[in-house]
Amino acid sequence: MAKYSIDLKAGKVAEDKAVSSRGETIVGIDLGTTNSLVAHVKDGKAVAVAGKDGKSVLVPSVVHFKSDGSVVVGDAAKQYLTTAPERTIYSVKRLLGKSYSDLTEVKDRFGYRIIDENEDRLVKIAVPDGDGRAKFYSPIELSARILQELKTRIEEELGTPVARAVITVPAYFNDTQRQATRDAGKLAGLDVLRIVNEPTASSLAYGIGLKDEDEGRTIAVYDLGGGTFDVSILRIEQGIFEVLSTNGDTFLGGDDFDQAIVDYWRETYTLPVNTAEQRGELRLLAEQAKKFLSGEEAFVAEYRGRELLIDRATAAERFTPLVTRTIASCGRALADAKLRVEDVDHVIMVGGSTRIPLVKRTVSEFFGREVNDSLDPDQVVALGAAIQADVLAGNQQDVLLLDITPLSLGIETVGGLMDPIIPRNSKVPTRVGRKYTTSVDGQVKLKVAVYQGERDMVADNRKLGEFVLTDIPPMPAGIPQIEIHFYLDADGILRVKATEHRSGTEQSVTIKSQYGITEEEMALMLIDSLHNAESDMQARGLAEARTEANNVLLSARKFIRQNEDWLTTGQVSEINHFVDLLSEAVAGDDKDAINNRLAELNEFTAPLAHEALDRNVAAAMKGKDLTS
Ligand code: AMP
Repeated sequence: MAKYSIDLKAGKVAEDKAVSSRGETIVGIDLGTTNSLVAHVKDGKAVAVAGKDGKSVLVPSVVHFKSDGSVVVGDAAKQYLTTAPERTIYSVKRLLGKSYSDLTEVKDRFGYRIIDENEDRLVKIAVPDGDGRAKFYSPIELSARILQELKTRIEEELGTPVARAVITVPAYFNDTQRQATRDAGKLAGLDVLRIVNEPTASSLAYGIGLKDEDEGRTIAVYDLGGGTFDVSILRIEQGIFEVLSTNGDTFLGGDDFDQAIVDYWRETYTLPVNTAEQRGELRLLAEQAKKFLSGEEAFVAEYRGRELLIDRATAAERFTPLVTRTIASCGRALADAKLRVEDVDHVIMVGGSTRIPLVKRTVSEFFGREVNDSLDPDQVVALGAAIQADVLAGNQQDVLLLDITPLSLGIETVGGLMDPIIPRNSKVPTRVGRKYTTSVDGQVKLKVAVYQGERDMVADNRKLGEFVLTDIPPMPAGIPQIEIHFYLDADGILRVKATEHRSGTEQSVTIKSQYGITEEEMALMLIDSLHNAESDMQARGLAEARTEANNVLLSARKFIRQNEDWLTTGQVSEINHFVDLLSEAVAGDDKDAINNRLAELNEFTAPLAHEALDRNVAAAMKGKDLTS
């Protein structure tokens, strides 16, 4: 199996193509919920890069679609959060790799529109355009916009194109969320060499994990940002960071500290807070106070002709319940890792809110040791990502590199799409399993076609082999539980096994993944995927929309059949009308048209589906009465 050098060769082959040559900088990117930033190693030291104005290294993770169709990102987009919320997308990281059913509880928190369907497909965000129709964007496309902004920023700084990056994700991100992050990178024109856990990057930023003596060390990373809190317990085992446990609160962060100050002022003074503008103004003052109190003892400001005051001790008192919640999470994380506080060797502080003195003090007391807080807590993750990138570029001689797989390995899913199971650059040997199900009622066979490559449609990738899983007992679509396992050994031998869990039926194939392909060919496949990222994403979006539409069409027709006894003829012809419109859209190749028609049909049928459910429940209850 290839050593890392294959990537450098890939670069060399590509000298006159999109990917630049040996010696290029690989950058580190922190793609954050509130802010994102890019860093690189310069003269042996990791530094984050500011924009042209030289002001801040932070790029707000906000994307705004102007009414003329143009797009702005970062500070330029943030100003539209209050004036055009339906076209200004923030916190997109919370949606990355998530399906609608994952979001039922949180979607009302957003100022923009997330399509309201309780389904397992990945979310899309509807942004109204000038003529009242919606355009649909996936979180991947939106994240790619932010990554593009960072790419431009670092290219301006370096004066050369940048094509390769390491991107960080929270330790708790699942496989789908990690793949979504890779896809966003690809769409932004970046070859994502590695997805690194944020706490791992934070440790690297402090130089922990780069030396032999770090072997066996345990690290707690405490990350309190603007809107989220998480704590991770890591251990370095044979040079690799293992995540022992994570804990946290996805809705606890700096914003809650601001609110605590707002609450204090409103309890202490009688303040006019009636309009959204007044509320916004007061929150901004509260955030100013919070930041000021991280360095000073007392804060005074004027609000609508009144003097507002708060001192550090009062703020600390108000902050205590919030900090206590984070400490409870730390306790749970330790318990899950089966460790005591004494077992922790390093505590690392990440996120802007760890500047609050009460936070530092409380965390330090809980772990019974000094915390690492010498680096800028907003930059730690990106700096660590840059160090990891530098290691991958081979610039840190004494750090051992592991064997990796040079191209992604995956299977074909509905619509001819590639579903990568082992992403390129994964360490080998490795073993990954993923669950699938059937898409048609009574399906008794499933074809498993194995592909290698980075393109979104399998037709553009290299087919390694296929087999058919037979003897699946006939069941309704979606019920069979089929698990596909990929085992890749250090010699590139891939074994693919499919198992249907309800019946125990099983089938497997063994393939030499590197057989008959040269390193040059692999490099070209990679370059191709970057060149075609945009059109691939379009093709994927269209294929996904079509698959979804076909499923909904089937269910709509079934729904009419099953409920014809009570549906009025008017309702039936309305459903048929929307069904016809959707079928027409599916025949075309406009993804937004399909999604708009889908939304219309779903909107019309949702109340009817509720009624059907109520009727079923009522019928069941009635049955009960009769028999009891
Ligand atoms: P992040 O998501 O890591 O960028 O964190 C941003 C959060 O850190 C926001 O809630 C800020 O208000 C908060 N923050 C930034 N600077 C300070 C400071 N000096 N003291 C307290 N909180 C701060």
